Amino acid sequence: MTITLKTKVTELQGVGSKYQEKLAKLGVETVEDLLLYLPRKWEDFSKITSIAEVRPPGAYCVEGSIWSIGNKRSARKRMTITEAIIADKTGTLKAVWFNQPFLIKNMKQGDEVLLAGRVENNFGTAQMMSPAYEKKSDKQKHLGKIIPVYKETEGLSSKWLRNEMSKLVKVIYSLKEYLPAEVLKRQGLIGYSAMIRQLHFPDNSFQLERARDRLNFDEMFLLQVAILNQRKALDQNRAIAIRFNEDLSKSFVKSLGFKLTNAQKKSAWEIIRDLERPVPMNRLLEGDVGSGKTVVAAMAALMVASDGFQTAFIAPTEILATQHYEGLKKMLEPFEVDVELLTGKTKKSERKHILKRLKEGEVQVLVGTHAVLKEEVEFWNLAFVIVDEQHRFGVSQRSALKKRSGSDGTMPHFLSMSATPIPRTLTLGVYGDLDISIIDEMPPGRKKVGTFVIPPEKKEDSYEFMRREVKKGRQIFVICPLIDDSEMMELKSVTAEYERLSRMIFPDLKIAMLHGKMRPEEKEKTMNGFAGGKTNILISTSLVEVGVDVPNATIMIIEGADRFGLAQLHQFRGRVGRGKFQSYCFLFTDSRSETVEKRLDAITKTSNGFEIAEKDLEIRGPGEVLGERQHGLPDINTKNLMNVELIKRTKTEAKKFLEKNNLDDFPLLDEKIKKYDGVASLE
Ligand code: ADP
Ligand code: MG
Repeated sequence: MTITLKTKVTELQGVGSKYQEKLAKLGVETVEDLLLYLPRKWEDFSKITSIAEVRPPGAYCVEGSIWSIGNKRSARKRMTITEAIIADKTGTLKAVWFNQPFLIKNMKQGDEVLLAGRVENNFGTAQMMSPAYEKKSDKQKHLGKIIPVYKETEGLSSKWLRNEMSKLVKVIYSLKEYLPAEVLKRQGLIGYSAMIRQLHFPDNSFQLERARDRLNFDEMFLLQVAILNQRKALDQNRAIAIRFNEDLSKSFVKSLGFKLTNAQKKSAWEIIRDLERPVPMNRLLEGDVGSGKTVVAAMAALMVASDGFQTAFIAPTEILATQHYEGLKKMLEPFEVDVELLTGKTKKSERKHILKRLKEGEVQVLVGTHAVLKEEVEFWNLAFVIVDEQHRFGVSQRSALKKRSGSDGTMPHFLSMSATPIPRTLTLGVYGDLDISIIDEMPPGRKKVGTFVIPPEKKEDSYEFMRREVKKGRQIFVICPLIDDSEMMELKSVTAEYERLSRMIFPDLKIAMLHGKMRPEEKEKTMNGFAGGKTNILISTSLVEVGVDVPNATIMIIEGADRFGLAQLHQFRGRVGRGKFQSYCFLFTDSRSETVEKRLDAITKTSNGFEIAEKDLEIRGPGEVLGERQHGLPDINTKNLMNVELIKRTKTEAKKFLEKNNLDDFPLLDEKIKKYDGVASLE
């Protein structure tokens, strides 16, 4: 049988139904799929060390004959230990394996073998731990060279995969090159099929490096081409150009009663610049809670109003919409800007009145939840949409905006604000051409929230501390552990915590709870009760939005802190420290694991959301950090997403290529790019 790229893996010898199933789970159906199942890493066993030169501890590959091999039972640990002695001209070495009794069938006394693995010092005796093994032959597949290591999911061993791959060498050359020749030449890259060959069967470390260079280049190049291409399409839309009113902006800043931070000034300027262009702004304004994003957005809305156009300001919840409405009104009314609030609670008659005045252009800034973007809400000339905490919205955001295009076909400018910082490195790579303004500086005089990791034996002390704060008149948030996304489980955990605290620990204090099963009115009542100082402690699940300002709250307790991502912990912490009092965040954890400790330690040491985001990315990877729904990133190596050099290189090349060429003329490349669709749109 001739094997081609299209041959089904089931037709390959050695791939029975058992393996077929396992491969199918990985999306591998054809020979081509299998060849594109690439190694995760490589181990260099090309150097064979003579036994006399083995110096434990360290990883080695040795070659020799088996002197003895046998199984024994370890009674205490209830397992089988296989022990072998291997000898070469220079000496002997002991090798051990655990729970693999069948090994004595594969390796017999007198066999010439290669063994590779870690050598440890076991009470003075060098001992090779569970080494990989291969009998010596002319065609070494596994040892005595650089060998690929595959991700061993679904019970497919690297050894098995290497064996199957070795049957496919010849067909690799029919893989078609998809990168344009000019790109290959400029970048000095090896061809596609040569890359695949070297990744599975490296000739030497130099060739392997070249293959990996091409692999990494491709990954980021495709992403950059996709981003630039989408951006090109977006830039073809038109928007209303808003005139900058310098005098008005100056009076606005004067009216605030504080000086803008440099970061605020810079962001405001970037936004104003965007508004002046007849192309829709698509900008993200990032900054920690309390960094002063709203002020910046308000100034932009003022510019739009002064030029005679309307702004929609959208908040994730009604509570937050109301709070934004009050803040914006205070800031903008001195300049005779008419700000209105529209929520589900707005009375019918009032709603009618607002809608009428909105349609006639009298309302200049409309604040509300995303319902404000619904079609029945008619604007006179909507030119600007501001969305707070955009990540709470679904995917349809931008298409909804497009529908809000005016009768002249212009699309509103779009500014989203977020307190969830995207790590800078990701910003560069993934959102390369989405515009981002960053407020990475807090207004002066803000106190740091003292953050501490609390092990179980210190819990008592924290309760004492909480009691003292309450005596001083302060209030406390308690966040319950994240269990899963089930509301039932969540309800159970919050109820249990409520019972425990109100009966056992603080029977004398007023405690309230908040969870996803409550009706919106109940939630709001509880929240307002807390904000108004009626309760001392508010216990809440992590899924509930508690974005309301409670300056009197000074302690944030997070139960089961180890189960949350760092960025999320940072968000919770941002709910305290908003007033004039010194505030604290206690991270409760039962975990004694060192990695957990390290992770939580990171958050006690910094209050900079961007640093935390960067750490989070390192630990959890881009998929988790960006949120599945938002980014739609295909499987990209985290290292590449954070490799600034590589990003610059691929971005420059992508620009060069797209300037002169049209993707339609490169169907194979276009096909590859399809999987990145929607990546850069930040929906
Ligand atoms: P964010 O939206 O980023 O959470 P806000 O715009 O709501 O932050 O600002 C938080 C608080 O800080 C508000 O009370 C605001 O008036 C105040 N504030 C904003 N900028 C400054 C500044 N430069 N100096 C002092 N206070 C500021
Ligand atoms: Mg805010």
